[in-house]
Amino acid sequence: MSEKTVRISVACAAVVAVSATTLGTAFAGDYPHAPAALTNVTVTGGFWLPRFETNRLVTLRTDFEKCELARIPNFRRAAAREWETFKGIPFDDSDVYKVIEGAAYTLATHPDAELEKYVDGVNAAIASAQEPDGYLYTARTLGFTKKGKDGKKEFGSMGPTRWSNLAFSHELYNVGHLYEAACAYFEATGKRTLLDAAIKSADLIDRTFGPDPSQLKDTSGHEEIELALCKLYRTTGETRYLKLAQFLLEMRGRGKDNSAGASPAQAGEPAMPNELEAPGSYAQNHLPVARQREAVGHAVRATYLYCGMADVAALVGHAEYVKAIDAIWENVIQKKLALNGSVGARRRGEAFGANYELPNETAYLETCAGIGNALWNERMFLMHGEAKYIDVMERALYNGILSGVSLDGNEFFYPNPLASKGGYKRSKWFGCSCCPVNVVRFIPQIAQFAYATRGNAAYINLFIESDATLRLACGDVKISQKTAYPWRGAVRISVAPPRNGQKFALNVRVPGWCVGRPVPSDLYTQTVPGTPDDFSVRVNGEAVKVEPVKGYCAIVREWTSGDVVEVAMNMPVRRIKAHDKVVEDRGRLAVERGPIVFCAEGVDNGGKAFDVGLPADATFAEETVEIGGPSFLSLKSSNGVTLVPYCIWGNREPGNEMQTWFKTESPAVAVRAPH
Ligand SMILES: [Zn+2]
Repeated sequence: MSEKTVRISVACAAVVAVSATTLGTAFAGDYPHAPAALTNVTVTGGFWLPRFETNRLVTLRTDFEKCELARIPNFRRAAAREWETFKGIPFDDSDVYKVIEGAAYTLATHPDAELEKYVDGVNAAIASAQEPDGYLYTARTLGFTKKGKDGKKEFGSMGPTRWSNLAFSHELYNVGHLYEAACAYFEATGKRTLLDAAIKSADLIDRTFGPDPSQLKDTSGHEEIELALCKLYRTTGETRYLKLAQFLLEMRGRGKDNSAGASPAQAGEPAMPNELEAPGSYAQNHLPVARQREAVGHAVRATYLYCGMADVAALVGHAEYVKAIDAIWENVIQKKLALNGSVGARRRGEAFGANYELPNETAYLETCAGIGNALWNERMFLMHGEAKYIDVMERALYNGILSGVSLDGNEFFYPNPLASKGGYKRSKWFGCSCCPVNVVRFIPQIAQFAYATRGNAAYINLFIESDATLRLACGDVKISQKTAYPWRGAVRISVAPPRNGQKFALNVRVPGWCVGRPVPSDLYTQTVPGTPDDFSVRVNGEAVKVEPVKGYCAIVREWTSGDVVEVAMNMPVRRIKAHDKVVEDRGRLAVERGPIVFCAEGVDNGGKAFDVGLPADATFAEETVEIGGPSFLSLKSSNGVTLVPYCIWGNREPGNEMQTWFKTESPAVAVRAPH
């Protein structure tokens, strides 16, 4: 039995109560499905190549430059123990780790000696900033305090001593991002400096937190370390990290209220807990995680929690966690998912709203929450193997995440609202700059998410022009996709088996948007739904009968090198209706084509877009709009409104008006009682 399949038993009483009945289910070992290795996928053209290149050449550089202003110098000063010289917010350390993670994914696919040398230097500073016992948190190491009203020193969110204000110190959150960066950098370069720092940190936390009476029974106010410890476990094989991840999950909802006395005033955006919700729900600390059934509280915290629960569930076989995240996922998909695929409707608390609370102009939908939702849905796919999770991820990717970064790669949205009366623009950076650094580490991972494998089955999850090598049980399969997706519905997939005549399954995702189910619930529906006939497949020119299982068209055959699979998806413009309970969308319809949400912008419509109407029976002509190189599909409606993809709004005239849910002249709106 390998290290990774060792089933753990945790001595903590609280954990034993759960684990005795839950260890050893079907998932023990790891997820049944595996994403493609990052280095085995090359994006070769189409829609995504310019975004990947901009991320690599502009966003990564911009993020490092901004981090050099204060965040990276904090590590250098901590290394030199320059007392009371910390600048910024205690969780700024995490921004640096996230950019390093992005750099690692970039280096894995695009070797760059200069970049690697620079990152090596940053990593050395981080390792030097670490205290001898493994503690790494530059704000405390540098003795960061603020002056209170009476001139006394105050410690603010970090608390007076180590681990004393875990609800808001981000001590565990920060090092979670360290672990992710360290694993990624080690895998990309084989270099151990950051990995050794991560191990030293995790060992300290493992000594400090745990079931022994001498150890702390507490957890992080901002989840992240749980999923990161799972990565560190996968990289090192050290089972203590996996146990620690589960312990930190089990410490949630056991009496400590992580929302009481919240003081997030240092953040760049307001992050107050919502007093109307159950105590602790801001940080998903209102109930033990296995008993949670509804998505509540701060949306980034929540989605990272669900990722951590999925990882632990997969690695140790925890059926109760699976039951919880399955129920929470249903709650989100049925009642809390925004049209752009993001989550966290409320500005106050950066939080999930009530069921069907899905505003447009005031929608928060933080870029990080869109990313968290995508990362969670990728994990749900890896666990259950169903295409509906990829439908949700794809909606987030092409809409609410991509809107978070400008086309030139150096300006960012923090919230991603679905309508604007004007005045809302992307920024170069933020006081709390979690979003720009999340984008830089997320975009390169999209290539990985395009494919997956399980035994002798290969999965094509995203239609991205790319070359991939997929590790099946029978050997390496080479796949090459050519496509103008998301503008066109044709995808040409060339397949080269490990040897001619090798039998395996190629599972091609049948996107929900294509066959009448834009989301896997009744939250958003198409007024003229797509049908199964809108999706067809040919192999070497011969039609294949499409009978989707779990949302996939399985092509099982003996493959020969040069075999070609042609996927054809009808991609008409479709109007989208929200569930009647979504008050703000009543009397309104949205516009989608393929996976793309369209919007109207002032720049195309005489300055006015917020109040623009689009009759339910409007027709649309396809046009193109060119913005700084790449061209994008645009639509001209029969009543003269120009629409562009939502993800590119605000690039030509920052701060112009924008609308995605259009007033119609449907009877429900137009028919009024006579006076
Ligand atoms: Zn963010």
